[in-house]
Amino acid sequence: MDKNVLQKISYGLYVVCSKYNGKENGQIANSVFQVTSEPPTLAISINRSNLTHELITKSKAFTLSILDKQTPMTFVGTFGFKCGRDIDKMDGVNCVISQNDIPIITDHSIAYIEIKVTKNLDVGTHTIFVGDVIDAQMLSDEDPLTYEYYHTIKGGFSPKTAPTYNKEEEVKGKKIQKEERNMEKYVCTVCGYVYDPVKGDPDGGIAPGTPFDEIPDDWVCPVCGAGKEAFELQ
Ligand code: FE
Repeated sequence: MDKNVLQKISYGLYVVCSKYNGKENGQIANSVFQVTSEPPTLAISINRSNLTHELITKSKAFTLSILDKQTPMTFVGTFGFKCGRDIDKMDGVNCVISQNDIPIITDHSIAYIEIKVTKNLDVGTHTIFVGDVIDAQMLSDEDPLTYEYYHTIKGGFSPKTAPTYNKEEEVKGKKIQKEERNMEKYVCTVCGYVYDPVKGDPDGGIAPGTPFDEIPDDWVCPVCGAGKEAFELQ
């Protein structure tokens, strides 16, 4: 079996939020899909170890913000690689409140959807939540961020808790990239983000073509916020 085939399936990138008993949290999800059109029904796969899983299970409701193509890596990093049990991810982020009193992230979002959960399907490490769309609104005309764009253009990977995490693909992809270019890449040992000198980190003020050694010492990983010392040669 060639597991790389699974990487050819297309996904978007979304922030999923839920709230229960005053506790709220959001996380990045890519495995979201429409199940039926009448009534409009969506499904989403969430790792059982995530705080958002606990909140959706209890509240039976969640919101979904569709991210735009220009979403910075730092934003994806906060919601995708950090745990809501350790930090308040909602701090400083612009939200509106849904019909079911759940935050809807409006930063870097082109549209949002609110879902009322009707079914849970236990699939081992994850639960698939199926639910009715009870609200949906457009926020901008920007293009949506796809997982493909995040992965190939922005240099992002799936965290280990994502349904699409693939260790083999990650390692093989890095080797091919190294053979194709001369400048050395550095990988974040915390989150797996790869600093590619060809691309630089424009969101973090690092111009394309900047070697890792020439990045200022106060620069941090655009995904997880780790310092330069957390990086090692790939
Ligand atoms: Fe990192």
